[in-house]
Amino acid sequence: MALVVQKYGGTSVADAKRINAVAERVLTRKQAGDQLVVVLSARAGETDRLIKLGCEITDHPDPREMDVLLATGEQTTIALFCIAVKAMGSEAVSMTGYQAGIKTDGHFGHARISWIQTQPIIESLQEGKIVVVAGFQGYDDNGNITTLGRGGSDTTAVALAAALHAGVCEIYTDVEGVFTADPNVCSRARKLDKISYEEMMELASMGAKVLHHRSVEFGKKYDVPIMVLSSFTDAPGTLVTREDETMEKMVVSGITYNKNEGRVTITNVPDQPGIAAQVFRPIAAASINVDLIVQGASGIPGRANISFTVPKINYDQTLGILGSLAPDLGDCQVMGDPGIAKVSIIGLGMRSNSGVATKMFETLARENINIKMIATSEIKISCIIDEKYTELAVRVLHDAFELDRKSPGGGNIQIQEEKQ
Ligand code: ASP
Ligand code: MG
Repeated sequence: MALVVQKYGGTSVADAKRINAVAERVLTRKQAGDQLVVVLSARAGETDRLIKLGCEITDHPDPREMDVLLATGEQTTIALFCIAVKAMGSEAVSMTGYQAGIKTDGHFGHARISWIQTQPIIESLQEGKIVVVAGFQGYDDNGNITTLGRGGSDTTAVALAAALHAGVCEIYTDVEGVFTADPNVCSRARKLDKISYEEMMELASMGAKVLHHRSVEFGKKYDVPIMVLSSFTDAPGTLVTREDETMEKMVVSGITYNKNEGRVTITNVPDQPGIAAQVFRPIAAASINVDLIVQGASGIPGRANISFTVPKINYDQTLGILGSLAPDLGDCQVMGDPGIAKVSIIGLGMRSNSGVATKMFETLARENINIKMIATSEIKISCIIDEKYTELAVRVLHDAFELDRKSPGGGNIQIQEEKQ
């Protein structure tokens, strides 16, 4: 008998018909002899609807009360699901984050799970029940309801799988697994059989929406294999796991894009110690997450330009902050460009292959796509480009790195130099 944690996303539990279909799926698994903990998201569109309700009252709704409001989305689905299971004649128990003992820090809207008191779940499993837990929520030291950030139900599921020592965490969604690129953008995108935690973390934080990036962090930290599957088909899915010999040895495993950032620039700041700190301090104080940063010489001796990207929702505010700093920094100018996108290529194979960056730059150059900023890590290269070229960039990079072709595991494939 195996203990399995399954998570179903919003589209999988969108209405009564789908809830019944998922309940049947879960029951079949139970009848095969497994113990099941099922984590559910809110129904598709529900969290957006609740956010809208809060914002109809005021532009800046209180964060604590927003978490109380948003948590109701998942509370609805766990109740409906258990109603379905019980109507089918089986035993199930619904648990809110609090009832399931999911302890978090006190950051409303983006809380982190710190501890799980597994006793209530274990007891219900021992009674032969299917345990159905509300994803995306927990409670803090003071007993407040907290939520984990958009997409956070994945993290609830993987954290529960870790705490309960489940053999696998199955994440059911509306796609058949992790693809080499967004199939809506790139028709040649291919489903991967396996991907490493490291690559998946980069894909998730760079814009691929299939898994919440914190869930992959948990998976890696506690060595929980995560299986991404469709709840609509019986296709095999993608396993997110530790790097191993059977993984496809691809130089690049995935390409992703993010259109949710804007670029801001402050030109001609004094090129001396303490200036970057002076620029970024008020931005950090406003809780704005800065992503890519580039500092370079300006045309004027002793002066420098600093460009960086911020989430689009913070773009205007960032321009305002820089504008108020500018008079203190001499003859500076503040500029912005909200129409950008970040396209990233990700792959463990980059660690042992040279020429990957060049190949990316040449591929974009051939399409006349200008690169505005570049950032690299050991397994990722990101380029900021004009937003309107995003889809084209993804497609040509997918072709250039031959991601539509499956590479065999075991060998180290070198990039083929193109012969002109
Ligand atoms: N319902 C939450 C959201 O839409 C959490 C989740 O679905 O994972 O972000
Ligand atoms: Mg999700």
